[in-house]
Amino acid sequence: MKEETKVIYEKPIPLKNTYNAPYWDAADRHELNVQKCNTCSNYNHPPGPSCANCGSIDLIWENLGSTITGEVYTYIVSNRPFLPGFQNELPTVIAVVQLEEYPDIKIIGNVLHGNTETVSIGTKVKMVWIEATEERAIPQWVLV
Ligand SMILES: [Zn+2]
Repeated sequence: MKEETKVIYEKPIPLKNTYNAPYWDAADRHELNVQKCNTCSNYNHPPGPSCANCGSIDLIWENLGSTITGEVYTYIVSNRPFLPGFQNELPTVIAVVQLEEYPDIKIIGNVLHGNTETVSIGTKVKMVWIEATEERAIPQWVLV
């Protein structure tokens, strides 16, 4: 008799909204979409209703593809699971990563399997997408 096992995803799942839907839709395809201001040409990440630099609401989306690399700009190491689902992944390294090809863009994510021995400022990482549910993939980082 085949026993059915179901993996329950316990971590919080980011919600799609009007302003970030193109970001999450791209993530579901394992691609990175970033918002860009059509007025001042700055990237606007995380996405929002208006440009954080100049306030313009003339925003467009740019697809940066699936090969996203960067380096750790800054990070923290959490040794306690502040949210459900992280209790088996301690320590959790939460990093702000500056993209290699687009240094104006910094994206926050966990460095999977990272720890204080392997992660420091300047550590090279690449983006991966973790399938949280059948319809949601979450960008994270792994060591290169
Ligand atoms: Zn702007």
